Amino acid sequence: MSSDSLPSSVRIREVGPRDGFQNEPERIDTADKVRLIDALARTGLKRIEVASFVRPDVIPQLADGDEVLAAIDVPDDVQLQVLLPNARGLERALEVRDRFHGVGVFLSGSESHNRANINRSVEESLTGLEALIPRVREAGLRCAATVSVAFGCPYEGEVPRERVFGIVDRLVAAGAQEIGFGDTTGMANPLQVRGYFAEALQRFPDVELTAHFHNTRGQGLANVLAALEAGVTSFESSFGELGGCPVPKGATGNIASEDLISMLHEMGVDTGVSLDALIDAARMVQEVLGRPLGSHTIVAGPVAWGERVA
Ligand code: ZN
Repeated sequence: MSSDSLPSSVRIREVGPRDGFQNEPERIDTADKVRLIDALARTGLKRIEVASFVRPDVIPQLADGDEVLAAIDVPDDVQLQVLLPNARGLERALEVRDRFHGVGVFLSGSESHNRANINRSVEESLTGLEALIPRVREAGLRCAATVSVAFGCPYEGEVPRERVFGIVDRLVAAGAQEIGFGDTTGMANPLQVRGYFAEALQRFPDVELTAHFHNTRGQGLANVLAALEAGVTSFESSFGELGGCPVPKGATGNIASEDLISMLHEMGVDTGVSLDALIDAARMVQEVLGRPLGSHTIVAGPVAWGERVA
């Protein structure tokens, strides 16, 4: 059932342990985090974002990043990424440099969201990243930079593509090897996404382009298909559909990794991930959090073509 118009395989970065846990109202026990990351790392996922070195008083949910990194036990071929808000985060991360492989940095495509989220102008953020990214690279770490609210901003509406691409130009010049485009508040639509990535892939042929969709309005997987059709081969998602965005309130839910992987496999797109093992991990996190999560496949299980239900 594979299609000529879709890539034969894609890379997926699981962001639940960072994007997801960060947005939980209660802090998850370090031991539970470790158990969940160890399970995710045995599903066939080759990229996991496991921690953030943001100030502990700002995001207490992720204050145990170094403890998590010290305790997890993941296969050698799993690439671990940590998120850095700024240069101070890099100092802390470098103390445990041998425990991860790459760094994620971020800013928003719109002025208002960047101010609301990290209390800086976009220019201030960019100037900071232009100093930070070379230091990340000098430490021998891979650098992925994400532009949040790249498709639309709840405060400003449309974020002009040219503005986002101008930001990307500077991130790439500073040394970013991967650029993420975040639909942080779930405003993108498939038609927009297809045109967006068709242009981005032409304009930035030498860096990896990653799509990061949220399912805030139920359009996350439709956007994935549009991105695939445009030629995108790198995605981020979160087990259990965990995650969201601190601002504005209600901007919930990354696309669920198990829903994403189910859809990809049904279309003949390889991910290297065992869907059964991933569903087990998603059910584990559901148990830890003690409430039903947004993922569909966690409830329905994998598509079973052999079964006929009347
Ligand atoms: Zn997200």
